[in-house]
Amino acid sequence: PFFKEYLPKNFREFPVLEAKLNANENPYGPSPMALDALKNSASGGNRYAWKELFQLVDKIAKFEGVTSKNIMMGPGSSDLLEKTAMVLFMNGGNVVSADPAYMSLIRVAEAAGGSWKPVPLKDDWSHDLKAMEAAIDEETKLVYICNPNNPTGTITDSKELLDFCSRVSEKVPVFVDEAYLWFLDDGAKKSMVSLINEGKDVIIARTFSKIHGMAGLRVGYAVAQEATLDKLQKITRAGMGISYPSVYAAMGAMDDAEFIESSRLKNTACREYVYAELTKMGIEYVPSHTSFMIFPIEMEGKEFLKKMTDLKVGVRAFNFMGKNWCRVSMGTMDEMKLFTDALGKVIV
Ligand code: PLP
Repeated sequence: PFFKEYLPKNFREFPVLEAKLNANENPYGPSPMALDALKNSASGGNRYAWKELFQLVDKIAKFEGVTSKNIMMGPGSSDLLEKTAMVLFMNGGNVVSADPAYMSLIRVAEAAGGSWKPVPLKDDWSHDLKAMEAAIDEETKLVYICNPNNPTGTITDSKELLDFCSRVSEKVPVFVDEAYLWFLDDGAKKSMVSLINEGKDVIIARTFSKIHGMAGLRVGYAVAQEATLDKLQKITRAGMGISYPSVYAAMGAMDDAEFIESSRLKNTACREYVYAELTKMGIEYVPSHTSFMIFPIEMEGKEFLKKMTDLKVGVRAFNFMGKNWCRVSMGTMDEMKLFTDALGKVIV
């Protein structure tokens, strides 16, 4: 594995930023309807949200076209990724995924006693599904696919992925992380959720942190077969981690179609702006399908981050495929202008 990320050692000492573009947060959230629901439910914070959580589960099940038994809630999808890894890898085994990929599930799988079988993305940045299938062996407990992928922002064709998941899940469960799916024009069509009703052993993770702008409110869910969720829920009551007001905020967010659409459009506008500015600077970026994008930098990641942070702009830096990369999240248009100004100063 050649994937490497430069992370701040100490979040407590993280500098004050004028443009916080390092965690793929949605600068416009939470939506007005989510905020109303949050405020109106705050006084219920003395109660456990058992019954209310079921209301949210039922609403999500209806939205996804599955039964409530196919839904598992968690305080953010991180919790579901990590708990899946703990349950599946506590007796060893390997997880097959792309390299680079979103590392949260993989790191916990390793910590639990499993190992990572990385398969490089193809030259067009899509998952190498053939090579991933070939990498599966008798020790493989899970295939993890992030689509669109983080940290690259790139996409794998949904028809090919559907075919892959349908076939491969007969051998080994496939976990599809769809955190950024709703930034696509036609996200619903590209989801793998239809496989649930076909009885396939796929686990689909979704989050309220991205398009809904609720990263700090911590709500996510998994859609999977009831038997798979039973296995996961033996060691965890993931829904217990969601606060009463957050349950209501999530229900409010789901009803706010106008906010979702406006977040998506503003995100696209920011991407177009950054593309144009990077082109002016002579930088060949990787076209993105998400709320962040990557481009190569001619500087070691640590030095780059320090220079950007000194200009009060927070981004991320990675090294993969033999190159240094900056990953920048889409913030407000004003933040993106601060970002391109700072970048212009740093790369001269
Ligand atoms: N999956 C992917 C691909 C992500 O990029 C993130 C967050 O950045 C997450 C999952 C976890 O998000 P959360 O725990 O806020 O739902």
